[in-house]
Amino acid sequence: MRHPLIRPGTSSSSNLLDLIKETYMEESHDIVIVGGGICSLATALALHRKGIASLVLEKSETLRVDGGSIGVHVNGWRVLEQLGIAAELRETANLVTAFHDVWQEEEKITLTPVRKELRWLKRKDLLETMAKNVPAGAIRLGCHITAIHPSDPGAVLTTPGGSIIRAKVLIGCDGSNSVVAKYLGLSPAKSTPRTFLRGFTRYPHGHPFGDHFLRLRGKRFFVGRSPITDTLVSFFVACHIPSAGDTRDMRATRHSVVQKLEGQQCPAEIVEMVQNSDPESLNVVTKVWYRPPWQVAFASFRKGTVTVAGDAMHAMGSYIGQGGSAALEDALVLARSLARAAAGSGGGRDDEPCERTMIVGAATAIGGYVRERRLRVARLSLEAFVVGELLRAKSLATKLACLAILALLGTKALGHTNYDCGRL
Ligand SMILES: Cc1cc2nc3c(=O)[nH]c(=O)nc-3n(C[C@H](O)[C@H](O)[C@H](O)COP(=O)(O)OP(=O)(O)OC[C@H]3O[C@@H](n4cnc5c(N)ncnc54)[C@H](O)[C@@H]3O)c2cc1C
Repeated sequence: MRHPLIRPGTSSSSNLLDLIKETYMEESHDIVIVGGGICSLATALALHRKGIASLVLEKSETLRVDGGSIGVHVNGWRVLEQLGIAAELRETANLVTAFHDVWQEEEKITLTPVRKELRWLKRKDLLETMAKNVPAGAIRLGCHITAIHPSDPGAVLTTPGGSIIRAKVLIGCDGSNSVVAKYLGLSPAKSTPRTFLRGFTRYPHGHPFGDHFLRLRGKRFFVGRSPITDTLVSFFVACHIPSAGDTRDMRATRHSVVQKLEGQQCPAEIVEMVQNSDPESLNVVTKVWYRPPWQVAFASFRKGTVTVAGDAMHAMGSYIGQGGSAALEDALVLARSLARAAAGSGGGRDDEPCERTMIVGAATAIGGYVRERRLRVARLSLEAFVVGELLRAKSLATKLACLAILALLGTKALGHTNYDCGRL
C-alpha cells in the first residue's frame, strides 16, 4: 500500500477513524493482476522470479480449484520449467503416452502415441503450487473488481464495497467474462452450449488403464478419461444432463449421467468409474466460452499500461486442450517483457522523472507482449474454433473445409504443442 489518502479530521478519534477508513478504501500498487486463476498466478510467479512485485485480486473467497484436471502439453511444461515448479508438479501426475480413441458405433479403435510430454494435472495442484511460490500477501481473495476507470498512469479499480485500487500497470487475467477486456473495448466472449460432468475417481488398489488417455465416442455421449496417478483418474462425460443447471446435488447429477450411460450400452468400466467418482470432485460445465479467431487476430489488447492475458484475451473452450498452456505462455512472455523494461528504465533521464520512464517502458513492453503473442494465440484460437465447427457441422462440404484447415494447421500431429516461448 503506497499512498493511503489521509485527510485532516476534526478530532483525534475521528482522525484515526478516517485514517482506518481511507487506508482500507484507497491504495496504490505498481502492478495489479485481476483474477486468481492459472494465468494470473503464473504471471505473478513469473514476475516474482524476475524480482518484480505484483498484487493478485481474486473475487472468490478461496482459490478456484474446481474444474477437475487440465491437460498440459510440452509447451506448457516448458513454461512450468521456467517458473521453477515443473519438478514438483511432475511428482503429482503421470506421463500420458498415447491417445486411445474408440468410436463405439463404428467399432473403430485407434492408438496414437504422444511423443512429447503430456500430463493431466489436478487444477488444485497447479494453482496451489503456484500460489505457495509467490510471496505472502501477494494474493488477495474475496476482492471482486466491478469497474475500471482510466487514469494516468494505468487505471483505477473499484469494488462493490467502495474500495479504490490504483494500478500503474493493470493485467486482466479474469477469464472469459473479463472486466478488464471490457475496459479495453473488447466485445464479450461468445459461448456455445456444451454439457460436461467432470470429476475424479480413486482406485485404492490401482487402476488398470495404464498411461493412455481414452476418448470414447458413443451415439449420444463422449467420455474422456485420463490417468493422473496410478490410483487416480480424471474424467469428463459430455452428454445431455437434464439437471445440469442445478449444481446443488451432484449425487443426483451423477446418478442421471450413470443412467444415461447405461442406457447407451457404455462399457461397464466407464459406468463404474462415474458411479464411484468422488461427489466432492464433481462439477458441471454447461457452456464453453470462446473468442472468435478474427477477434483475437485484430482486437486491441492494450490501452496504455493495461492489458489482458489468458482466457480474458483468447478464451478457446476445451476443443484442443490448449487454453491453460497458452495462458502459461502469456504469463512468461508478459513477465519477461516487463522485466526487460524495468531493467532498461533503471536511471531515468535528468529532465524526466524515473517513474515516467518506467511507465513509458511498461507501455512499450506490453505493446511488445501483445505483438509477440498475437500470431500464436490467433492460430490456436482458429484451430479450436474449427474443431468446434467440425463437431457441429452437418454438411459434408463444411466438414471437408474444416478438415482441410486442420490438416494445414497440423492438428492431428499436435503441431501446436511444439511451440517454445523461450526463457523467462
Ligand atoms: C471443460 C474444459 C476443459 C478444459 N480442458 C483444458 C485442458 O485440458 N488443457 C488446457 O490447457 N486448457 C483446458 N481448458 C481451458 C482452460 O481451463 C482455460 O483456458 C484456463 O483455465 C484459463 O485460465 P485463466 O487464468 O485465463 O482464466 P480462469 O481460469 O477463468 O481464471 C479467471 C479467474 O478470475 C477470477 N475473476 C473473474 N472476474 C473477476 C473480477 N471481476 N474480479 C476478481 N476476480 C475475477 C475468477 O474467479 C477466476 O478465478 C478447458 C476448459 C474447459 C471449459
